[in-house]
Amino acid sequence: VALVRRTNPFQRERLAGIASSAPAELEALPLTTKEDLAADQLAHPPFGSNLTFAPDAYAHLHQTSGTTGEPLRILQTAADWRWNRACFARALTAAGIGAADRVGLAFSFGPYLQYWSAYEGAKEVGALVVPLGGMDSAQRLETIRDLRLSALVCTPTYALRLAEVARSRGLEAAFAPVETILCLGEPGASIPSTRRQIEGAWSARCLDHAGMAEVGAFAYACAAGGGLHLNEDEFVCEVLVPGTERPVPPGGRGELVLTALGRAGCPAIRYRTGDVVDTAPRACPAGHAHRWLPNGIVGRTDDMVVIRGMNVFPSAIEQTLREVGVHGEYRITFYTDPGARDEVRIQAEIARPDVARAVEDRTRQRLGLRVRVVPVRPGILPKQELKARRVEDLRPIGRPGTESRRPTA
Ligand SMILES: [Zn+2]
Repeated sequence: VALVRRTNPFQRERLAGIASSAPAELEALPLTTKEDLAADQLAHPPFGSNLTFAPDAYAHLHQTSGTTGEPLRILQTAADWRWNRACFARALTAAGIGAADRVGLAFSFGPYLQYWSAYEGAKEVGALVVPLGGMDSAQRLETIRDLRLSALVCTPTYALRLAEVARSRGLEAAFAPVETILCLGEPGASIPSTRRQIEGAWSARCLDHAGMAEVGAFAYACAAGGGLHLNEDEFVCEVLVPGTERPVPPGGRGELVLTALGRAGCPAIRYRTGDVVDTAPRACPAGHAHRWLPNGIVGRTDDMVVIRGMNVFPSAIEQTLREVGVHGEYRITFYTDPGARDEVRIQAEIARPDVARAVEDRTRQRLGLRVRVVPVRPGILPKQELKARRVEDLRPIGRPGTESRRPTA
């Protein structure tokens, strides 16, 4: 903090007037949002002014995917990059991946952090690194089979897609050598039903990892208890009630806020990640010291809807649908009934009324949420590629709960 306050224009302005940088006064430091960084980059193109050193000091460029606006460009010095490499190596070690492994990286060769983190981390643990960029799925499966790759790093969606291609193209021999699949890039590997699907399809262990370009590789899997551990050796981790600066009580759900301790060049100080996590009231089953997130990353604050005072994620509703065996299209509608109560309606391709009741029961048990399920015939709901378009919020704007960042306990 002392360094960046001296030489980093973005931080100098934000940290002006703050008397101390002792850890006890973390709360005195201002929170940083993605919007803050995006506005700064727009005002100071092309890299923004969150730069502690002269331009020559930087060695790596990464950017966010830009699904919600302009991509954010993040520069790293060689020292910052070595730190990130060590953080990712920890995720691999936690997943049991080491020097004896042949690790396939099923990503394209793009500007996003995940491929490069995985590449560097796998080298750090001494594994044989096999890039699978520039190949279609069948070529990747042939490579996994022919080189007998023992570990695969990819998104959970892609792990399932690859398994599907293997079965449809007669490439099931690719399943045999793979012992571990490390998933990243999106939530999934901490969701029990998704993890079981991946593990079943590949007959391999599936573990989770989380990182983001703005802060680095911040969490590693708990092989004993599932979910993730926050790497508290390298990050100061806070879980705050969304929209506030109040920490959630133990066991509560909130937004993850991270301060990256090993990244000075383009620092992340109390960065609001937008990732929502459930904290655990106790240590993980193996008693690991770092803070445990039993459900990994639960969702994004942007997707969260507040219904009758509860934080609800459309992805959690989808999860219950899939768990009772509904695999077709669905649509979720949030609306206000004439009595001014917020309600949830799920239209889903369901043939039998008992299945609709099973969805209602399960949603109540698992999410504590009362929903109304309306079965529809297959083909009536439009086929969707994007999850966001399956969700409709018809509640009047300004009613309590319609602001996605409204503080809730
Ligand atoms: Zn653990």
